Order: sequence, then C-alpha cells, then structure tokens
Amino acid sequence: MPLESVLTRIDNEMPKAIERLMELLRIPSISTDPAFKDDCQAAADWLVEDLKSIGVAAEKRQTPGHPMVVGHVKGPGPHLLFYGHYDVQPVDPLELWDAPPFEPALESTPTGQVIRGRGSADDKGQLMTFVEACRAWKAEHGELPCEITFFFEGEEESGSPSLVPFMKQYASELTSDIALICDTGLFESSVPAITTQLRGLLGEDFTVTGPNRDLHSGMYGGIAMNPIRVLTKILAGLHDDTGAVTLPRFYDAVPEVADEIRAQWQGLNFDHKSFLGNVGLHDPAGEHDRTPLEQIWSRPTCDVNGIWGGYTGDGFKTVLPSQASAKLSFRLVGEQDPDLIRESFRSYVESNLPAGFSIEYRTEKGAPASQMSIEDPAFEKARKALSDEWPRPAAYTGCGGSIPIAGYFKDLLGVNAMLIGFGKDDDQIHSPNEKYDLISFHKGTRSWARILDALSRT
Ligand SMILES: [Zn+2]
Repeated sequence: MPLESVLTRIDNEMPKAIERLMELLRIPSISTDPAFKDDCQAAADWLVEDLKSIGVAAEKRQTPGHPMVVGHVKGPGPHLLFYGHYDVQPVDPLELWDAPPFEPALESTPTGQVIRGRGSADDKGQLMTFVEACRAWKAEHGELPCEITFFFEGEEESGSPSLVPFMKQYASELTSDIALICDTGLFESSVPAITTQLRGLLGEDFTVTGPNRDLHSGMYGGIAMNPIRVLTKILAGLHDDTGAVTLPRFYDAVPEVADEIRAQWQGLNFDHKSFLGNVGLHDPAGEHDRTPLEQIWSRPTCDVNGIWGGYTGDGFKTVLPSQASAKLSFRLVGEQDPDLIRESFRSYVESNLPAGFSIEYRTEKGAPASQMSIEDPAFEKARKALSDEWPRPAAYTGCGGSIPIAGYFKDLLGVNAMLIGFGKDDDQIHSPNEKYDLISFHKGTRSWARILDALSRT
C-alpha cells in the first residue's frame, strides 16, 4: 500500500524530522522587529534549501518587507497549495521563559513530550508537518502524489503588509485547486478539526464632545449634559436583555448554520461551564436562544474594548468633562458587510446625541467573515483522512478569530482554503514558553500524508 509505507517511514524518521525542526527554530525570525531582518532572510534561505532537498523548485522572493518562499513540484494528481509562515512573535518578557526561546529542546511533561521554543507551534512546527509528510512520500515513491505549490510567508505576525500585493502579482502561480493552511488547532487533543468559518472584524474608535471645555460640577452640574453620561447610555443601548445587538438590520446578513454542521457541533459536547469557569465566569453572555458554540463561532458580536473620559487619576476632581471616548469592535459573520454595519452603528450613535454635541471617529478598515464551501469534495476527503489518523472523528469547526489569508485565497484567486492545524489551546503561542506537543508534530505529519493520499485519488 503506497500510504502505509509512507506512514511507517514517518514513524521511523521522526528523530531526524525533529532535528530539522530544531534547526529552523534556532533562527530568531521575529518579523516585527527590524533588528531581526537578517534572521528572517536566513529562515527563508533555510526553507528554500530544505525544499530543494526534496526536489522542489523553490526560491526566495523579495518583497518590500520580509521575503516569501515559493516552491513548485509537479505531480500526477490535483494541484494543491500549502501555506504556512516562518516568522515568529517577539519573545518578551524574556524573564518569563524557563529556557532561552531560540534554543529549542524536547521536554517531558505530565501530558507527554513537547518541543519547547518560540515558533514551535506558531507556525514553524505546523509548517514542517507538511514538509515532512512530503519528504517521506518522495523518499518512498520517488515523486509526490499531487502537484504542489509551497507558499511560506515571513510577515504573518506583523500584519502581512506584503501579502495581498504579492498574491496579486503572482496570482497565476499561486492559483491551485485548493489551498491548505496550517495555522490553526485541534478542537480537543483527540479531535482534529477543519475550520470552515472565520469571523470578520470591524473596529470603531470615537470621541463624543459636549461642552467646549471641562466644567466645574458645582457650577454647571445639573444644567450641563455630561458627555460620559451620553456615551455610556449609547454603549449600554447596544445590547438588549436577551444578549442580542440592537442596531437596526444588524442580523440581516447572518445565516443560520447548516443542519449537518449544527449536528456535528452538538456532537462535540463543548463544555461551556469549564470554558467559562477557566476564566472565572459562569453564564454565557451571548444571545440567549443560541448555543455556546454558536455564540463563539457563528454569531456576530459587539464588544466595548476601552472607555475613557474625565478625571481618572488619584483622588477626586469634580470635573464635568468636555469629552468622552470609547473603542469597540464587532466580530462579523456570514455576509455582514463591514461598511453597512458601520453605517448602522453611526446613525444609531448620532440619533442619540443631544443637540450641540459632536462626534469624531478614528477608524480602521473592516474585514468581512469568511465561510468555506464544504460542498467541495476535498473537504470530506480530508475529514475522513484526518479521522483515520486520530482517536476521534474530525469535525468542521468555526473560529471566533479572523485569519485573513483564507479570505484572500477566495477573493483574490478564487481558491477554496482548508484550514487544518494541530495546535492546542495550551501551546502558549505569542507567550513565553511556547511549545508544540510531539504528538501534534508526529500525528500532524502522518495526517498530511493521509490527506495527500486522499486528495490525489479522484
Ligand atoms: Zn500563526
């Protein structure tokens, strides 16, 4: 069986695969800090050489920021693209690390062996699961089962400024039958996941101005309207008692979850009591008639992220401030249009401003949600392949956060993206002591071999 021998080779070669990952982890490719510019180049060079060693025509492509790595290899089956990123987050506060972040090591923990080091889970370890699966396949069979394009970014942790222009410039090269993105996690340690919906994001940052200067509350209190009172009333009016957002037409473009997905989510037995209990909370705060997983994955939100105004220093100052400000953000789903939501929010705010008050906005561009179309048979093939590897069947899950690259493949190239990853909630990505479970690395690699096998069959 072609697949069995590849899996056996992966098992036998694990020590060498770990050594290669350690080499990559020793390169401090922190993309946001200019002091590590050369290290980002070095990480890209390392990947180019490693891809070449398995017969991939790979090269480093410069951008105005850090370089991309692009590699192609021909094969008999469909054309797959694999995306990962080689840059990592900064390491501070350094004193909270138990070992130097760029001196990776295997470590035994009560829940099994882990690879400790910055980038081990996000995203170098995950990226290498795919490369190692290809290496084993190539070694066993002399060629890969599909045509594959490798696409590695070096600016993911610093906002991906070069990504969209690069994808536009090389659109024909990067267009494939499906894109595989490995930068997400397992649902639980024994349940692999294919993330099929990601929420979008819209931020609003604004200041309400009332009186033309700060006033003394003894002299003006009572007759003068306080901007903090205006602001807090506006913010308090954004949700009703059932947890729903009150903005007109807010839910117009919010779809219902498909029945088969809803059934799967129910089967996951998500324990919201411990999810909330872990952060000292008790009851879900979203729409009362929605399940906790729907509240996180498939329903839109509105949250105040910051609020300030008046005197906040030590002691008391009986001021009636001229201004009050807030920052809030919306997580968007389905077809919700960030621009329409912004309009709806602003007209709500402005209709609640007293006469003579003014408002000023400082805003960034919003991003809509992305939803993968699982009608593409590749999704079900990959889900079965993952289910063969792990103790429990793979699930289609949502993700409360935003992963813009998935939307770019769809919008810029018309390519469906499949988000599959093997990270765990406790990997401490972006934090001190980041780790990747050895079992994630090993079974992740085996999973990709199975997925390659499944996708290459027509
Ligand atoms: Zn990442």
